[in-house]
Amino acid sequence: MKITFLGTGDMFSVEQYHNSMLAEFGGTHLVIDFPESNAKALKEVGFPMTDIHNVFITHLHEDHINGVQMLGYYSQIVGDRKPRLFIHEQLVEPLWSILSPGMRYTTDGERTMSDYYDIVPLPDGGTFELGGVTFETFRTQHVPGMVSNGIVAKPYFYYSADSTLDQERVERAAADVQLIFHECHMHDLVIKSHTSLKELEQLPAEVRQKTVLMHYHDEYADASNRERFNREHDLRMVGTLESFELDEK
Ligand SMILES: [Zn+2]
Ligand SMILES: [Zn+2]
Repeated sequence: MKITFLGTGDMFSVEQYHNSMLAEFGGTHLVIDFPESNAKALKEVGFPMTDIHNVFITHLHEDHINGVQMLGYYSQIVGDRKPRLFIHEQLVEPLWSILSPGMRYTTDGERTMSDYYDIVPLPDGGTFELGGVTFETFRTQHVPGMVSNGIVAKPYFYYSADSTLDQERVERAAADVQLIFHECHMHDLVIKSHTSLKELEQLPAEVRQKTVLMHYHDEYADASNRERFNREHDLRMVGTLESFELDEK
């Protein structure tokens, strides 16, 4: 499985694209979240946007979904099929209510969400299969009352999405995956909806060594700052457009 980070920035990042990951495996792929910065990132890695067929949406904060309208239009106008959106069942209507003011009316009449996307609604903890890989979703604690989800693909990766630290789940998953992609705000102050570096440093050493940090602020857009961090910690930061190869084991 080849992993490419299309973006590693937090909501306010202007230098390193918003957090999104492309996984390629078994002749297919999955993109996690679809910020508008993915259009540029995909161009830079040479992956045509018309070839994007599978997207998992973690939650509805702007920095994770503000390219979904573009993807829908692009696929309809330039592509040969609707992109499949894997999404928690309770997020389907709220997502359409965000998209519909710009997508409902067309010169050929009114459209619905399923005219643009092939929606795969998932229950709490829902799973799906693609290219011989099973993806297990799980609810995260990001903002109280908001539906948000992470995803695990054994034996490859755990992806926290935006979340406070669910230490028990991370430690359990660590035994079954090669890398843990975890969000980290990298600020010294307390941010109640995200995970701090201090918290991730409390993880057992064997878990920290597998943990890769994403969704951080622009001070670390500078590769030399990430390199310095990576030298000084057993946790490491991934940069935008960096890749990993994971084994089938
Ligand atoms: Zn975010
Ligand atoms: Zn968020």
